[in-house]
Amino acid sequence: LIAEIIAVGSEMLTPHRQDTNSLYLTAGLNDLGVSVAFKTIVGDNRKHLADAIRIAIHRADIVILSGGLGPTEDDLTRECLAEVLDRKLHRDPNTLESLALRFAARKMAMPPNNLRQADVIAGADLLPNANGSAPGQYIDTVVTSPDGQAFRKVIILLPGPPKELMPLFDNECKPRLSAALPPHFMARRLLRMALIPESTVDARCAPIYSKFTDVETTILAGHAEIQLHFLCSKPTQEAAEARVDALADLIAHEMGDDIFSAEGESLEEVVLLMLGLRDQTLAVAESCTGGWLGERITAVPNASRVFLGGAIVYSDASKETFADVSPELIATHGAVSDRVARKLAEGIRERTGSTIGISITGIAGPAIITGPDAGKPVGLVYIGLADGEDTQVRQLQIAGDRERVRLWSTQHALEMLRQHLQ
Ligand code: ATP
Ligand code: MG
Repeated sequence: LIAEIIAVGSEMLTPHRQDTNSLYLTAGLNDLGVSVAFKTIVGDNRKHLADAIRIAIHRADIVILSGGLGPTEDDLTRECLAEVLDRKLHRDPNTLESLALRFAARKMAMPPNNLRQADVIAGADLLPNANGSAPGQYIDTVVTSPDGQAFRKVIILLPGPPKELMPLFDNECKPRLSAALPPHFMARRLLRMALIPESTVDARCAPIYSKFTDVETTILAGHAEIQLHFLCSKPTQEAAEARVDALADLIAHEMGDDIFSAEGESLEEVVLLMLGLRDQTLAVAESCTGGWLGERITAVPNASRVFLGGAIVYSDASKETFADVSPELIATHGAVSDRVARKLAEGIRERTGSTIGISITGIAGPAIITGPDAGKPVGLVYIGLADGEDTQVRQLQIAGDRERVRLWSTQHALEMLRQHLQ
């Protein structure tokens, strides 16, 4: 089943106003398992509006019109729809009465034009509008195509002001639509991977997910992470869950340990959980990331169970003060070096008494011109991991600007720790 939304109003064809109602309606329709195939914006013009309605009814099962139900001359939606459906309008006495009451309550005389707001298309259900004067209208009908075939169509008229449209859609339309639609249940799954290029993930996963035509797969890349989202709609919850589970299992098999989370947790949450399960504690010595790794870790509630703390060892002197890295070592190898990363990780571990120490030292940009690190490329980063028995150092060349080098450094550090704990 597909839907079309028609936003009526010339103001939305100017640079000054945007149609936002359709975003709200789309989210609601998606919840009901209906996808929006078309959105149309049309001005307050009788012929254009009638054309747009005709086209929408022809190509969509559900058509929702917003706007143009007001009392002014340019509010034409009711009249146009009646004309396209070849139905009469009749003036609803109850609506007339509530219109009169609205005006009386405001001690205003009702202009004759407002009477049109009580016009109902023959066969439509009126949707009472508690927040405005024009009620919505709901038409569930069968239209016959020129070749004699019959199609069920639902056509809905809603007022334009979002404060009126939203409650009308939620309270009056959604229950009617869900009763009219086949029953459906949604299942969602999310797999998360760190540091892998999107193209690699897609090359390996597309052959699998493309066979699951009933599961909608979305790949999102950003923040040094790839997310695979799966969404499936079925007549029962079990059937929907079974399909996303089957697909997620196959992808998990293909991507193996690259997947850090199958339940939606963040990388830092996963790492903290693993540290806790293995009775390990962590401390960090951060140079170029300036505390970002510590910030990511401490953003997780209860991080204190396993995270002891650390130091921002930005200057050469602070590397000695907080992690016992000798000035000679830095003079010989540079602060951005395998040897210094190694000593930083070991030093912070010993100083804090943690079981694991992690260090990050790198050149986030711009390039360093003088001293022992002169000439080393921007993006060169060393990450050290010391656990008391052994110290590993990973040398990285991270592409991009300062922000990206720093973010990816923290991501590499967390991923290195995750792999170490596996
Ligand atoms: P009224 O009785 O207030 O005239 P109406 O149903 O005739 O209601 P419009 O006149 O088309 O609705 O629009 C009224 C106001 O609602 C517009 O000025 C605009 O601010 C807002 N509006 C209309 N359509 C949309 C839309 N698609 N997205 C967001 N806002 C909208
Ligand atoms: Mg209006």
